[in-house]
Amino acid sequence: MKNGERRKVRVVVVGGGTAGWMTAAGLVGLLPAACDVTLIESEAIGIVGVGEATLPHLRLYLERLGIDERAFMAATDATYKLGIEFRDFGRIGDRYIHPFGTYGRPLAGVAFHHYWLRRDRAGAVPPIGAFSAGVVAAERRRFERPGSDPGDPTTSFGYAYQFDATRFAPFLRDWAEARGVTRIEGRIVRADRHGDSVAAVEMDDGRRIGGDLFVDCSGFRSLLLGETLAEPWEDWSHWLPCDRAVAVPCASPPGTIEPYTRATAMPAGWRWRIPLRHRVGNGYVYTSAYCSDDEATAALLAGLDGEPLADPRPLRFGAGRRRRSWAGNVVAVGLASGFLEPLESTSIYLVQAAITSLIEHFPDTRVAQADRDGFNTAIDAEYDRIRDFLILHYHATDRADSPFWNHVRTMTIPDTLADKLALWRGSAQVARYGHGLFLEPSWVAVYLGQRVVPTGWDPRADQPDAAGLDRALGSLAQAIADRVRAMPGHDAALGL
Ligand SMILES: Cc1cc2nc3c(=O)[nH]c(=O)nc-3n(C[C@H](O)[C@H](O)[C@H](O)COP(=O)(O)OP(=O)(O)OC[C@H]3O[C@@H](n4cnc5c(N)ncnc54)[C@H](O)[C@@H]3O)c2cc1C
Repeated sequence: MKNGERRKVRVVVVGGGTAGWMTAAGLVGLLPAACDVTLIESEAIGIVGVGEATLPHLRLYLERLGIDERAFMAATDATYKLGIEFRDFGRIGDRYIHPFGTYGRPLAGVAFHHYWLRRDRAGAVPPIGAFSAGVVAAERRRFERPGSDPGDPTTSFGYAYQFDATRFAPFLRDWAEARGVTRIEGRIVRADRHGDSVAAVEMDDGRRIGGDLFVDCSGFRSLLLGETLAEPWEDWSHWLPCDRAVAVPCASPPGTIEPYTRATAMPAGWRWRIPLRHRVGNGYVYTSAYCSDDEATAALLAGLDGEPLADPRPLRFGAGRRRRSWAGNVVAVGLASGFLEPLESTSIYLVQAAITSLIEHFPDTRVAQADRDGFNTAIDAEYDRIRDFLILHYHATDRADSPFWNHVRTMTIPDTLADKLALWRGSAQVARYGHGLFLEPSWVAVYLGQRVVPTGWDPRADQPDAAGLDRALGSLAQAIADRVRAMPGHDAALGL
């Protein structure tokens, strides 16, 4: 942020869904002296109302704003989430958990999975999940907050939340309004374009709201970036062909609430299951070319764990993103900037990444090209990496039981992903990047979970003698199992 300018930047946030209120709260919480924030939303239009599974980064967002975790969890009926269980993705009957956290710990500078691969080839070790406290705790439905020593594999894991999507924005709204965000209720009917920027938006009652910076959080419609500034859409549907979803909540089944989200592969996509305190969220994400809306709804309803609590709700979307997320004085955050399907619960993370980057590049009353470029470069990298990671879940499969799976198994993939796969297959190496989503353990989880077994591993992992290595691995798995056994059940951790 620059210091020279005295006048506060007038920020207009268009939209009051999760993206809009997260942005408004983030700006008023972290840049109170730099901006005045007005948020416009239309109750008549409403919000998308899905988006219930999150990533651990959300904890950082709450912490930075000083929002109490317990208050947030109580207000949103949240549960803890230790990862995602994938069923039937590699082959029907397969199952693995992609945890938040690491496997084992590095030895002599070499990542744990290289040692595990060596001994797995010899049939001498349990599945790699036994070396992740997050996986073991998820399977036993236990939870406690991670320990403070990141080097201790028995307590170092991450966690996120599963929450009621309709309650998060109202919770943040209360918080943000109490700190000075002005909320305007009503429908925007047009935007005044001025060159490559937006000067003001006009409401259905004739009011005109001007600003220096507009944050487009208008959802799939992308009112300012897409409609007004006509920023082109980059279509990724050839790699991520799912374009519909049907969602329905159901009653919770008896028993301990799972501290994880479940994704189960279906003939034309996959279904989610997100256990909350008071209900379970369900949805079938599918490809309209291979499945009708009626078929999808019937399949979803047939697999519920309890009574449906509402009518099934259809949603339509396409995978891709606007070429630039920030153009002129319009920054798109959330669905207005792009969409990657929820297989790895990444959308709210992308909202958060955009807010973080906006704050890092927060402009004066006039936007500098360098800020726009810095923001766009950061967001492009986030989208591209997540895209490749999602495609991996579809492409790395042996399934040949439906036209959908035949398509995704045999489709061409982005070169960036092909390179990552080649690196892994040859030497069990994971392409590295310093920050952002999906670091080494995540790729290891999905590669192995979907049977992409490398032919080799780091030669340094051959150094320890086999018997000693097996003893060390056995002790580690035992220590993790013992630690998890001492954790409270997930229900108890929630105070239920
Ligand atoms: C099927 C599905 C499942 C998903 N699951 C997950 C998940 O598990 N995890 C995850 O992280 N994300 C998930 N997402 C994404 C997540 O739902 C969104 O990223 C998140 O809710 C943010 O949405 P939003 O605020 O951008 O848009 P919306 O919720 O659609 O909000 C748009 C806002 O703009 C306002 N608006 C629009 N037009 C106007 C107008 N003309 N005038 C005034 N106001 C207007 C609306 O009233 C509303 O307030 C999922 C998405 C889909 C489609």
